[in-house]
Amino acid sequence: MYRYDPKSLVADEFINHQEILDTLAYADQHKDDLALVDEILQKAEARKGLSHRDASVLLACEDPERLQRMYALAEQIKKDFYGNRIVIFAPLYLSNYCVNGCVYCPYHMKNKHIPRKKLTQEEVAKEVIALQDMGHKRLAIEAGEHPEMNPIEYILDCIHTIYSIKHKNGAIRRVNVNIAATTVENYRKLKEAGIGTYILFQETYHKESYLQLHPTGPKHDYNYHTEAMDRAMQGGIDDVGLGVLFGLELYRYEFAGLLMHAEHLEAVHGVGPHTISVPRIKHADDIDPSAFDNSISDEIFAKLCALIRIAVPYTGMIISTRESQSVREKVIPLGVSQISGASRTSVGGYAEEDRPHETEQFDVSDQRTLDEVVRWLMEMGYIPSFCTACYREGRTGDRFMSLCKAGQIQNCCHPNALMTLKEFLMDYASEETRAIGEKLIQAELNNIPKEKVRQICRDHLEKIEQGIRDFRF
Ligand code: SAM
Repeated sequence: MYRYDPKSLVADEFINHQEILDTLAYADQHKDDLALVDEILQKAEARKGLSHRDASVLLACEDPERLQRMYALAEQIKKDFYGNRIVIFAPLYLSNYCVNGCVYCPYHMKNKHIPRKKLTQEEVAKEVIALQDMGHKRLAIEAGEHPEMNPIEYILDCIHTIYSIKHKNGAIRRVNVNIAATTVENYRKLKEAGIGTYILFQETYHKESYLQLHPTGPKHDYNYHTEAMDRAMQGGIDDVGLGVLFGLELYRYEFAGLLMHAEHLEAVHGVGPHTISVPRIKHADDIDPSAFDNSISDEIFAKLCALIRIAVPYTGMIISTRESQSVREKVIPLGVSQISGASRTSVGGYAEEDRPHETEQFDVSDQRTLDEVVRWLMEMGYIPSFCTACYREGRTGDRFMSLCKAGQIQNCCHPNALMTLKEFLMDYASEETRAIGEKLIQAELNNIPKEKVRQICRDHLEKIEQGIRDFRF
């Protein structure tokens, strides 16, 4: 019998099954106790986050008036901490060779009819050029787990290739990495290769279900997988990205687990997760999402997003193209800080004229071009940002928090967003998008509080107009 201990390095202790069950029972018991709900909401209004217990009570509460307060608070926190900027990235699939048996993923080893593909360095270069030609500056690389086909050396080679390609005015300035759990030594190598965030989805925090959903392969080892972020941090990576694949298990269980994981990282390493992703299971070759009976409605999905924003205000939140335009419109205001755009989830998909489906990991709901996504964000009043400054300036780990606390976001992230948007408008945008963007930049310049910063930003914008690139605060 394991005891709950957020400071422990043993998965069963920091994600403690009994503690989650007790939390859910506590939430059920108190979900109609409106005095307690109000007290928790008041705590949340201090913007210092909430414990997994308190947040679970809010998740269970169905009182319409309180729900409105939760949404309003999430929107306010999002505005105060992240402003109207939305950072944009794209996934890049390197290889779909995989030795695991994940039952929700078409790359599982037993799937014999999906073609297997691994990009050569020449093909990586082609993909990167195609991504740069769209305007992307930030990638998340993805690969199946296969010690022989996709060893760490291969991943490192790919990172090196990606950073080395400079096509026209293009550049990939931040590579985030989503590969299977690995050793401290390998995490150190990734860190040395200059990666941004190390992303690893937990898929489910429910150990018993995890073992069934990952019946074979190294990913079957729940503890090794769950303790991966601790090893990543030991290896020197202090920006890590958590996530749950919603639909596999009960969402309330996952929500409590996710927050416990964040609390654990904070307790042990002094820094919480950099981002949280909220993917939902999608149709894919060999995968029927209706076979998983814990799927969540769009309403619950929105509630989860709002409560993540409230519970961990300093953690970025990511919504991928698994979600449709309309769902994205609904949840972005509730706390999302990053979205993917114009994604292709197949190996080698970007270099193809038409979207290939053969090796796709899942169906993409939002299939718009990057130009369309950028325009859409601006039409909703957001600033699409291609900024990658923080980690390049050494602002990783808890430093976003310090920036935020020092009130410097508007003097730093805001001008960076405007300058990177300007680059996009100059190099890649359609005429219509450019016209909207230029107007937006002029209006948003006024929202830089420091006169001096505003002036420097104006100068940089002029220089971008003249062809110089890559300014940052
Ligand atoms: N092999 C790595 C690992 O073990 O974490 C890389 C991750 S995989 C390329 C990216 C993520 O896609 C997975 O962690 C999983 O959550 C998600 N995924 C897998 N199948 C999916 C499906 N059918 N629908 C939506 N997301 C899926």
